[in-house]
Amino acid sequence: MLKQTEIDKLRADFPILTREVYGKQLVYLDNAATTQKPRCVIDKITEMYTTVNANVHRGVHFLSQEATEVHEASRKVVQQFIHAASPNEIVFTRGATESINLVASSFCNAFCSEGDEILISAMEHHSNIVPWQMQAERLGLKLRVAPINERGELILEQLEQLITPRTKLIAVTHISNVLGTVNPIKAIIDIAHRHDVLVLIDAAQSVQHTKVDVQALDCDFLAFSSHKIYGPTGVGVLYGKEKWLNALPPYQGGGEMIASVSFEKTTYNTLPYKFEAGTPDYVGAAALAEALRYLTAIGIDKIASYEQELLSYATEKLSSIAGLRIIGTAAEKRSVLSFLVEGVHPYDMGTLLDRMGIAVRTGHHCAEPLMRVLGIDGTVRASFAFYNTREEVDLLAEGIVRIVKMFRA
Ligand code: PLP
Repeated sequence: MLKQTEIDKLRADFPILTREVYGKQLVYLDNAATTQKPRCVIDKITEMYTTVNANVHRGVHFLSQEATEVHEASRKVVQQFIHAASPNEIVFTRGATESINLVASSFCNAFCSEGDEILISAMEHHSNIVPWQMQAERLGLKLRVAPINERGELILEQLEQLITPRTKLIAVTHISNVLGTVNPIKAIIDIAHRHDVLVLIDAAQSVQHTKVDVQALDCDFLAFSSHKIYGPTGVGVLYGKEKWLNALPPYQGGGEMIASVSFEKTTYNTLPYKFEAGTPDYVGAAALAEALRYLTAIGIDKIASYEQELLSYATEKLSSIAGLRIIGTAAEKRSVLSFLVEGVHPYDMGTLLDRMGIAVRTGHHCAEPLMRVLGIDGTVRASFAFYNTREEVDLLAEGIVRIVKMFRA
């Protein structure tokens, strides 16, 4: 596990963490929304624009070739990070949202017809609901929803019972952005495959907190965003097994994704370029690769155990506050702590914590259907990264206590 001295050193890698807001030291606890960036990632962006900037895959000139080499090396870094079998299985997108939209659109076009079913869970982010709903509406598909128990855990037996001969794909989050629940994705994948159903894993909240090995999981598709894993905004990853990516039609048309074009007919490029229409964000991809190298050097397992310990500490600390209810009490949880305090609206809590320099998220967290299942309008959510400390958790707890006192007075 990371020691306090190591955390202090690592914090120094993140320039923004020294910022003050409202004259208070920033306590950034909104990491599930986006993570802060280490200096090496910020420097990589500058380095790319000041040394190797040129459009990739297109030029015979030196810079273009060098930029292409950097871009393809970035793809290999992603491949290794999630242990994909081939760089062809790594598609750069704009983010987890675009990755899921790509699969929803291409997969449903190729493999679904009226009456077929897509199975999701009750704890999905809008990004893993709406793209499927759009296809369901277009093609006459049914969207089925696997329920959760009162702790916020998926009920596996019921998920399996919802699989029918018409089920084509299960799309499920690895870690819930609201509840912190870690879903048993290996078990879900095994169940799905026994029924010849494919699985897409939304890893937007997991790759930064726990080791993800797509081959060990045997998942068919997996999506994540760079900005939630210490990389830049505007870049994401879609992993897909080569055999499925080969079988899917392109998602968008344009440059890069073609082998040849005439006014009559276009033949498409090989993987992964078939899914990368237009100039890719090669600068963003290089900076994402830098973030992954940075995390790998620290050690994702060390990060996981430190964050786990921090979450336990925060859970204990906040649980002791009278009137505070933690939303999401799954046995397996990571890095997300949602709560409600009796008599204090989440929005007021978030606004007043902000005045103390503490950044948390309030509201439905892009999971309105889950809020309905839970029978609430929203929560306050503190979400942790490895640069957060016990002292910051103490400040959060003290802040909540002060606010509760204000409201009770
Ligand atoms: N899935 C989950 C579980 C998320 O938490 C998020 C973002 O919060 C997304 C998908 C969408 O990520 P992005 O907005 O980066 O595409």
